[in-house]
Amino acid sequence: SNALNFSGGPGVLPESVLNEAQKAIHSVPEVGLSVLGISHRSDWFAAVVEEVERNIRQLLQLPDSHALLLLQGGATLQFSMVPMLLLRGSGKTAEYIHSGYWSRQSIPPAQLEGDVRVLWDGEASGFRRLPAASELNHSADAAYFHYISNETVEGIQFNEIPGREDVPRVCDMSSDFLSRPFDPDRFDLIYAHAQKNLGPAGVTIVIVRRSILDQVPDGIPALLDYRAHLKAHSIYNTPPVFAIYVVLLVTRWLIEDIGGLERMAAINQHKADALYAIIDSHSDFYRGWARSENRSLMNVTFELPSTDQEAAFLNQARTIGFSGLKGHRSLGGIRASIYNAMQLDAVESLCEFMEDFVTQAR
Ligand code: PMP
Repeated sequence: SNALNFSGGPGVLPESVLNEAQKAIHSVPEVGLSVLGISHRSDWFAAVVEEVERNIRQLLQLPDSHALLLLQGGATLQFSMVPMLLLRGSGKTAEYIHSGYWSRQSIPPAQLEGDVRVLWDGEASGFRRLPAASELNHSADAAYFHYISNETVEGIQFNEIPGREDVPRVCDMSSDFLSRPFDPDRFDLIYAHAQKNLGPAGVTIVIVRRSILDQVPDGIPALLDYRAHLKAHSIYNTPPVFAIYVVLLVTRWLIEDIGGLERMAAINQHKADALYAIIDSHSDFYRGWARSENRSLMNVTFELPSTDQEAAFLNQARTIGFSGLKGHRSLGGIRASIYNAMQLDAVESLCEFMEDFVTQAR
């Protein structure tokens, strides 16, 4: 069932949002037309984009120094757009952290645009931990510093913001954006695709410090240039109207039903604590992937003593109605993704199942 969907992404959305989206597919009340057939040039859609921006600004307390854009192409396109706009022709070096599967994908596109220095590489430690600040040898003249706040595949998450304050800080927050509060003013560029905590796939949020756009080189196609999207209020070409509408519903849910990011973070902590407690109380059976200081509150990853037991675990879980628990194809094991919309009682059901499974396996 939807309630027991622990998918790594696209992830579960709030039931109330699904209900409203369902109604809107038939007819948006204010318009009398299906959301799938409303012009992106309508006043209604301009207001949707405006409210999405207003809501995210409110949730993050985003200062006016930063612009908010709604783009397409997923987080993967940002792997290219970031170095195209901030590294190309700069004669500088971009600094990257290689902390897991997704940060590995982020580096080759940057190497196409200029010099890249991998500041820290987690491969030797099997991507089970993240670097401490003391392990990062930043230089003052880097074009920017890029990292991923939550490695979705491995389930490791930064608790502190790495980097130095005098180098532009760029962060892929795809899998933990709007799951906890943070100070946006410490970032020059943030991007996050929607399909974890925000809505359906198809829209990617970009938050950019306006002042860094002055250095964008010439010769960038408009669709790949933040400035074109900024000027067009995120309606440069036809945007994914439906996906953006659902993001609007999710931001309303965060503000009205949850009560903001402090509250959301407390709920997320609670859910993650419950799962990690089960893992720790049976540590001879459930072996948590991440070192405990770096455990993700969004993706709880663990292994069982054998792949046969993992297969049995997944099979039994499926018969009860759990889905999405299979680890990423690159890593194996089990991954329970517990994004914002995952309810505490569903996490508690999973904890019960894990207790039962370990008892039965012994
Ligand atoms: N970054 C992170 C942290 C991700 O989790 C993912 C996909 N799950 C991506 C980038 C790639 O995103 P997309 O498929 O939207 O391009």
